[in-house]
Amino acid sequence: MDKSHVEELMRKNARHTAQGAVASYIPELKKQDPSLLGLCMMAVDGRTLSFGDDRSRFTAQSIVKVPVLLAALLDNSLERLFQKINLSPTADGFNSIVSLETKSDKKPLNPFINSGAIAALSMVAGEQPEEKFRRVLELFRRIAQNPHIEVNEAVYRSEKATGDRNRALAYYMKSTGILECAVEPLLDAYFRLCSLEVDCHDIASLGYFLARNGLTPQDERLADRGACRLIKAVMATCGMYDGSGEFAAMVGIPAKSGVGGGIMGVVPGRCGVGVLGPALDEHGNSLAGVMLLHDLSELFDWSIY
Ligand code: GLU
Repeated sequence: MDKSHVEELMRKNARHTAQGAVASYIPELKKQDPSLLGLCMMAVDGRTLSFGDDRSRFTAQSIVKVPVLLAALLDNSLERLFQKINLSPTADGFNSIVSLETKSDKKPLNPFINSGAIAALSMVAGEQPEEKFRRVLELFRRIAQNPHIEVNEAVYRSEKATGDRNRALAYYMKSTGILECAVEPLLDAYFRLCSLEVDCHDIASLGYFLARNGLTPQDERLADRGACRLIKAVMATCGMYDGSGEFAAMVGIPAKSGVGGGIMGVVPGRCGVGVLGPALDEHGNSLAGVMLLHDLSELFDWSIY
């Protein structure tokens, strides 16, 4: 990886941070600095390159749906998991409620929209939601090799105070039997997981782990190849909200974004990528982040297609 070419792409794309807008439906996220642009690339041989605001902290938001799905896969048979959640991409928004009622099986469309992630979390091992929360947190910390990943309390409180759409989704799923546990404690765990504070290195480590099909940098196997393959397929088809098709065509790597401005990408067998750019496009993806990933994909010939 050539540093000077990447530096040039960082400079070129920094101007796009002035476009787009930070998420505002969670009031605390409005306080984010839209001018940030950070990048971390972690190659499978262990070399790490980082640029710009790579150490700025932001909340993982929907990126945490990846370790949630991983934990649900580790703790359940595929058959049981997919009795509750489908694997279909959608052009509806990430918090859409419509398909939960109109589809005959009442299942969330996929594990990366809010309803699907809440359902996946309900299936993670643990009697109480607090244990499910800790299970996902510990998995994320081990993968990121960072025991200091913690909840951003202000974002958590803000999400909890305003998360009525997620409440609606969860109560609806309770009424149809998709959720079998109490709604409020489960949502509390979901809000805390979305509010985990990370930096570009933490999410690049998650990408690195998937690029190596379940191995940590110490060659510790935390997941098998099949689980990682499934997660990458869901990322490729559903990871960038309703912008997933465009992203597949323009960038061509499995990725998962969050409304905190992060994008976690996987270049299978090659590297994990973490990007931060809090100003979002109309799909809810980091606008400058997507453009930067497009340029990096061209430079390094990353597309898997
Ligand atoms: N915590 C956010 C929510 O549930 C996550 C959304 C996202 O990043 O897409 O609304």
